[in-house]
Amino acid sequence: MTELRCSQCDYVAFFPSQLAGHMAIHTRCFDAARDMRRIPRRDQTQRALNEQLLDLANVANRLGLYDAATFIRDRLSNSG
Ligand SMILES: [Zn+2]
Repeated sequence: MTELRCSQCDYVAFFPSQLAGHMAIHTRCFDAARDMRRIPRRDQTQRALNEQLLDLANVANRLGLYDAATFIRDRLSNSG
């Protein structure tokens, strides 16, 4: 029997339909290589560093990177 492996995690399926069903869960997950191409480039901002970091935390939330967003916000609130 041929093993079908997920290209994004360690999942192994035995039927094509099984793999397709599994792969559907990844389309809603952040994938840097896939998603970076869709994010528009911007010129350098003049906003202050703490404002940039808050913007970055919002972007992280949008991408589902909740732990990263929380980390940035925690650091900002601890740095006064
Ligand atoms: Zn997978």
